Amino acid sequence: MLETKSTCPYCGVGCGIIIESEAGAITGVRGDPEHPANFGRLCSKGSTLHLTAAPVVLQTRRLLQPMLRAERTAPMKASSWDAVNQHVADKLAAVIGEHGPDSVGFYISGQLLTEDYHAFNKLARALVGTNNIDSNSRLCMSSAVVGYKQSLGVDAPPACYEDLDHADCVFISGANPAWAHPILFRRLEAAKASRPAMKVIVVDPRRTESAEFADLHLQILPGTDVALCLGLLHACIWDGLLAQPFIDAHTTGFAELKALARDMTPAQAARICGIKEVELLQAARWFAQSPATLSLYCQGLNQSSSGTAKNTALINLHLATGQIGRPGAGPFSLTGQPNAMGGREVGGMATLLPGHRDPNDAAHRAEIAALWGVDALPSRPGKTAVELFEAAARGEVKVLWIACTNPAQSLPDQALVRRALERCELVILQECFAGTATAAYADVILPAATWGEKDGSVTNSERRISRVRAAIAPPGEARSDWQIVRDVARLLEPVLRPGRASLFDFERSEALWLEHREATRGRDLDISGLSYALLDRDGPQQWPFPEGALKGRARLYEDGRFAAPDGRARFIAKPYQACAEQVDARFPLGLTTSRMRDQWHGMSRSGVVSRLFGHSGAPVLRMNPQDMPRRGLKDGDLVRVRSRRGEITLLLLGDADVGAAQADLAMHWGQEFVSGRGGQGQPLLGANALTQPAFCPDSKQ
Ligand code: SF4
Repeated sequence: MLETKSTCPYCGVGCGIIIESEAGAITGVRGDPEHPANFGRLCSKGSTLHLTAAPVVLQTRRLLQPMLRAERTAPMKASSWDAVNQHVADKLAAVIGEHGPDSVGFYISGQLLTEDYHAFNKLARALVGTNNIDSNSRLCMSSAVVGYKQSLGVDAPPACYEDLDHADCVFISGANPAWAHPILFRRLEAAKASRPAMKVIVVDPRRTESAEFADLHLQILPGTDVALCLGLLHACIWDGLLAQPFIDAHTTGFAELKALARDMTPAQAARICGIKEVELLQAARWFAQSPATLSLYCQGLNQSSSGTAKNTALINLHLATGQIGRPGAGPFSLTGQPNAMGGREVGGMATLLPGHRDPNDAAHRAEIAALWGVDALPSRPGKTAVELFEAAARGEVKVLWIACTNPAQSLPDQALVRRALERCELVILQECFAGTATAAYADVILPAATWGEKDGSVTNSERRISRVRAAIAPPGEARSDWQIVRDVARLLEPVLRPGRASLFDFERSEALWLEHREATRGRDLDISGLSYALLDRDGPQQWPFPEGALKGRARLYEDGRFAAPDGRARFIAKPYQACAEQVDARFPLGLTTSRMRDQWHGMSRSGVVSRLFGHSGAPVLRMNPQDMPRRGLKDGDLVRVRSRRGEITLLLLGDADVGAAQADLAMHWGQEFVSGRGGQGQPLLGANALTQPAFCPDSKQ
């Protein structure tokens, strides 16, 4: 038996795994006891990873060879890499020639490795010449990115997992880590068991497993987080709980925020949030008076039409109470996907450039152009996720290259997304699993390697870079994502850059990583002191890790100096705004979407493991039982659920953990898991038939 150290491909906790393989097949997975993210533990998803590589899965669910259909109406046929690569290159060249570079869009994924991200970014920006490259991380992280930048100066989570061992108060907001980040939550449970005086506050419209664990559950109404934070700040001001010396020495903008908070009394905030004032006051005291307060937050803050305001409102609280830059203290965004952080570092999103640079900054564009050996990078703004699909629906984006994600299930307002995919002249789908909802709209399918078959790196929530290693060769004709990109790019270069040296002279993943590393030199995330060899020898490392450093930095801003040019953090004064869509007489229930304990995203991987359905086996709409009798509803009824955009039919269950006048639906289910068949013309069945595409004006999330 061979053993190969790698990283779990599911969530942003980034647990180390040891892959067991025999005769070219994966036979088992166990936790890596030396990995500092998990010390050998794995959750239900991680510990069943090997079952997603079982022979029956490889035969029935994996994409094993390139596929092509010459016409939209023609059936998809097996093809060769040479033929599909040439077809893609020819079509890209023709569309770019006729309609310009911005008629092409790339929609990629936080599941990709850093090296894959880099290859896509270079293809889009340096060769095609468009900033139309965005990632499903837009739906996951971009409000955290912009929140950090506005408040602290750069996109860098200041805290680390070890801070759970030092925190005296843990404020969990818009997150259910008991299910979504389980191994991190085990660490919180252990910390609380060893120090029972630690206070845990959970802010969530639902009574989740995390809320059950908490000392205080603030069951706010959906979307009212900014009002809550302003009310907490008001209480801190009124009760003399501010860290005034810290505010004076290390921040700017407090007067404006104080004026805003003055108008949000605790009583008013409690009324808006639907909680008791006494609970809010208790939370304010624990947050401010604990020796060290750590916040953990995720989609409840990020995935919102006021996502950035929610992030900055929470960071404001940390700054005002001096709860930052010390062991156990700080705002700490949890990443959903395994490499959403790596995508941010590489700049594989429309609003970012490599090394935490800005595509709107001419000097930043020039720096990357020089590093990559091109004359210039495009300056036209790129389209973010929802914008990209809206542009495709209007006929402006004609080619979509989608990698490692399933937008026909996972983007909001599915009717619009599917119109967009139908209208495109060419949809390229780079995937490892067959039968996703998006596959039905693809003209070209490029079979990709997945975990256990590819080599590279990822960065987890605490800025820790871990190696991903191949234990076996990819099945069939599947290839690593960066290789797929490179091979098409090499065919396109003679057309778009005739007579110039290749930009894609990569034979190994390390060559891509080294190019990315150079883009970080001298920046806040400098990893010029790292190498594959060092990571292989010493294990995963946190950034920054500049040349000459002996180790990375566990937490940031310990010297009180922030990353803005003046060294000061900024208070951001943004008022509370209600959800973009309100309930009314015709649509009287608010819908929240949520995660299940044992499933991942659209289930293309976790959905092949039967034991992961033991916890929850079918899509169910949950409602507060008090709301059911007056509508003549009871447990087990089939109900028609309608929003302003779509309609689905589901089983109903009463659940007192869901707030009054609210309903909850897990996000994972899509048509192939509900109906057993996917494809064009099939009815919409997942949560995103109902959801709306409004986004935060700052983060576009
Ligand atoms: Fe994988 Fe996340 Fe579970 Fe760790 S907590 S084993 S990274 S899914």
